Amino acid sequence: MKALLIEDDDLVGDAIQRGLALDHAQVEWVRDGTEGEAVLRAGGYDLVVLDLGLPGTDGLDILRGLRGRGDHVPVLILTARDGVADRIRGLDLGADDYVLKPFDMDELRARARALARRATGRINDLISCDGLTIDLQAYSATLDGEALTLPGQEFKLLIYLAEQRGRVVSKEQIADMLYGWGEGAESNTIEVLVSSLRRKIGAQRIRTLRGVGYMMP
Ligand code: CA
Repeated sequence: MKALLIEDDDLVGDAIQRGLALDHAQVEWVRDGTEGEAVLRAGGYDLVVLDLGLPGTDGLDILRGLRGRGDHVPVLILTARDGVADRIRGLDLGADDYVLKPFDMDELRARARALARRATGRINDLISCDGLTIDLQAYSATLDGEALTLPGQEFKLLIYLAEQRGRVVSKEQIADMLYGWGEGAESNTIEVLVSSLRRKIGAQRIRTLRGVGYMMP
């Protein structure tokens, strides 16, 4: 899962970033509303955690713009305990859920997982296809009942491809998901990762579309 966190408070932002990372999310964090809005326009996120009180563009304005563009990315808003009006406004503008500050990190994580799950149409934390089962909560996978041992990056790639099943993902998207923005990756790195994963789960499970990317059929 690739998440965008828009939060200007260093302590809160740091806690959320670490919390979501426990659920193996790739978190990009911006501290300014105007920058957040610009980053959101580029898209490509599975979840947005949005503080409402921000320097630059206000959180509610970001939300209004996002939904106005027809972007359906799940949004979890962070609001003050006494901010009932903001909360209602946020939900009316298209936020999917909210967390009150100060919040319990386990609750925020669970709400984030629930939103990401709903967005992919899953009803629980299991993805199954042809003998391959991935448990997103336990962060484990089995193939024909046997536990699969996968290094972190391969497991992330497996989840990504499985969540996008039937859709083509480019090497750039994979690199972005694994390594985040600006860091990039040699395309060779992704090829090596894919072939290693293929050896463990069966080559037929990951199709190469030459010049386009990869797909789990
Ligand atoms: Ca704030």
